[in-house]
Amino acid sequence: NPSVFSAIEMAPRDPILGITEAFNADTNPNKINLGVGVYYDDNGKVPLLACVQKAESILIEQPTPRTYLPIEGLAAYDKAVQELVFGADNAVIQERRAITAQAVGGTGALKLGADFLKRFSPDSEVYISDPSWENHRALFESAGFKVNNYAYYDAATHGVNFPAFLAALKAMPKGAIVVLHACCHNPTGADLTQDQWGQVIDAVVTNGLVPFLDMAYQGFGAGIAEDGAVVRRFTETGVPLLVSNSFSKSFSLYGERVGALSIVASSAEEASRLLSQLKRVIRTNYSNPPVHGGKVVATVLATPELRQLWEEELAAMRVRIKATREAFVQKLKDKAPGHDFDFVREQVGMFSYSGLTKEQVAKLREQSIYAVDTGRICVAALNSKNIDVVVDAIAKVL
Ligand code: PLP
Repeated sequence: NPSVFSAIEMAPRDPILGITEAFNADTNPNKINLGVGVYYDDNGKVPLLACVQKAESILIEQPTPRTYLPIEGLAAYDKAVQELVFGADNAVIQERRAITAQAVGGTGALKLGADFLKRFSPDSEVYISDPSWENHRALFESAGFKVNNYAYYDAATHGVNFPAFLAALKAMPKGAIVVLHACCHNPTGADLTQDQWGQVIDAVVTNGLVPFLDMAYQGFGAGIAEDGAVVRRFTETGVPLLVSNSFSKSFSLYGERVGALSIVASSAEEASRLLSQLKRVIRTNYSNPPVHGGKVVATVLATPELRQLWEEELAAMRVRIKATREAFVQKLKDKAPGHDFDFVREQVGMFSYSGLTKEQVAKLREQSIYAVDTGRICVAALNSKNIDVVVDAIAKVL
């Protein structure tokens, strides 16, 4: 007898998890996975930050019962996040125009924002960069939106096709929701200059667009304040604004699922209405967020010594990525003269669109080196032990 389940088809495989599966099945002991989306240290391990361990020790010394958190999360966490994302002296905080809710990672923050927007702007369409983080489209579609791409990456220069991007923004209808990567664009590593951001902000304001800044890598680009500068610039315009942020990478807290959604309103009174509605969205999704990760991050951010330690540990990750880019470019210059990889140095954050073709990626796989078909490599998956192997393999397939 057919059941309600019998006609359900197999869903398509996740392209990135597919790489992980193939990688795990590879018996070559020297295999290298550049397809990952996490930061590895120079030993090829996901770090456990010392600031996190210290915060956890503090929390263990003061055991507390596991009550429910408020719907919008731990108050100390929401406050600390707001100050980090907007800058502590930002007028939107002083004037109580910003609301922040703890979310289940950056993904959870995006989904809350998407569900919220669908309730109050149901006919808007969403625009994401071409290409974008592979979950953006599915996530906004699952909230019921039509999702379009805007021109962004230029394969010829390995950078941003800024004139095309700006033209796309200017052509969007009023009320369109535009998802922007605040820093460290995933997957390309191609970011805007501050001057280009100024032009983007002008276009968003003039055209009446709804900006949704996704900031999953604050501190991985130029620094915590530098990477957050674009958020601050948007708040100065007075337009409605949504910001999703994640601590998965910056605290190496992937599995704890710590992120937040912030929304900027035009007044404190409007903000309180928005928060009441956002709480309904949360309530009907998962009621309230988990405790542990939020407490760890709030403890680190609010304890001066731990905060200092975190900033140092984050800086070390950022510096290692930059040094790795430099080494990668230099080594390719030696091993593959005539091929220009200088653009890898200009790219920002964990990823690089390396320019490797699908065919070249397939040939790398024959040498047990795994990358995404698009040529995206995770620069943080390179380290002092594997970089020469990778460079030699790339030189062979060029
Ligand atoms: N947004 C972007 C651009 C990302 O790259 C990621 C993670 O890779 C996320 C959001 C999701 O973050 P999280 O893992 O905290 O859900």
